[in-house]
Amino acid sequence: MSRVRSAKRVTSFADSVFGEMTRLAKLHNAVNLSQGFPDFEAPMAVKEAACAAIHQDQNQYAPPYGTRSLREAIAADFAARHGMPIVADEQVTVCCGSTEAMMAVMMGCIDPGDEVIVFEPCYENYGPDAIMAGAQPKFVRLRAPSWTFDPDELKRAFSNRTRAIVINSPNNPTGKVFTRAELEMIASLCLQWDVLAISDEIYERIVYDARPHVSIASLPGMANRAVVTSGLSKTYSVTGWRIGWAIAPAALTGGIRKIHDFLTVAAPTPFMDAGVVALSMPPESYVALAADYQAKRDLMLDILTRHGFATYQPGGAYYVMVDVAKFGFSSDTEFALHLVKDIGVATVPGSSFYSDPASAPQTVRFCFSKRTETLQEADRRLAALSR
Ligand code: GLN
Repeated sequence: MSRVRSAKRVTSFADSVFGEMTRLAKLHNAVNLSQGFPDFEAPMAVKEAACAAIHQDQNQYAPPYGTRSLREAIAADFAARHGMPIVADEQVTVCCGSTEAMMAVMMGCIDPGDEVIVFEPCYENYGPDAIMAGAQPKFVRLRAPSWTFDPDELKRAFSNRTRAIVINSPNNPTGKVFTRAELEMIASLCLQWDVLAISDEIYERIVYDARPHVSIASLPGMANRAVVTSGLSKTYSVTGWRIGWAIAPAALTGGIRKIHDFLTVAAPTPFMDAGVVALSMPPESYVALAADYQAKRDLMLDILTRHGFATYQPGGAYYVMVDVAKFGFSSDTEFALHLVKDIGVATVPGSSFYSDPASAPQTVRFCFSKRTETLQEADRRLAALSR
């Protein structure tokens, strides 16, 4: 075999499904309800702050861990919402999106040979992130309709090899919001087995029906064993800016920062300045954000129900999972291809959120982070679906 070949670590990785579905959406001129990004505008003040920063020549490398003002803003915002003090200098690292933050956390906190517990279905990066860190992902299923886990299955997943567990609440792709009781159970296992909790909270502001967003980092005993990742992308509708962060115990921050510095040096400077403006938005704006998204969720659920889909109502994030087994396709990927090519609506096949797509339930994910007109156009097109 030639020595000039791809590394073994990538052989188990599938191509990212999100970019591919967006490509197919463009190719077939479909309504794109696949990749999770808004098709509406970002807040004007935030955009203006980015433009101003560029015009003021904030165009060179930022400090690698993020500008002081953004790190302070992130620390103050998290501390205020979760009632726990955060020291920006010791705990906050700004990365190129929360996707990079997750990678930097795994590389910075996990050793080769360790195991990382991951709930699935999940955002497709967690498994590859663990593998890139030399660790072995161990998957525990969230099951419909409530997308909760079986406590015994979770307990069995922990062992002396377990180094970390990844939690994503509100959850992509299911919309599940973990309850305090569920998080307490996970936290007690982390304490029992001396394990790190890595909590992806990118949808923290998009929670419905007056549910609270609980961070596992705020539970008793967890402040020193939880890392939270989040970012500007979803809350401020700027997924292309790539500003994310990790909030970590001081003892773990050094490792995370080294990885981040070697991976990307620093996040984009002008967007960090805009991030300070974003994080200074008044509390009412977040109430309005959640209410707007809740209206979109309700519209999406209504559309999907009218077209014969069995839906799982999301408690947060901006996706709806639907069951598609009854349509009689050989797989949910085949169904998603039919939807994008013949019906003109792009979605993400649910099996791509599982480590073993063949044993996954047949579902597809609809993203409703879209203008009302976009959702209405999807409604019109879905009428052509035979059931
Ligand atoms: N988080 C978004 C989604 O789940 C997109 C992420 C990506 O494109 N990598 O669709």
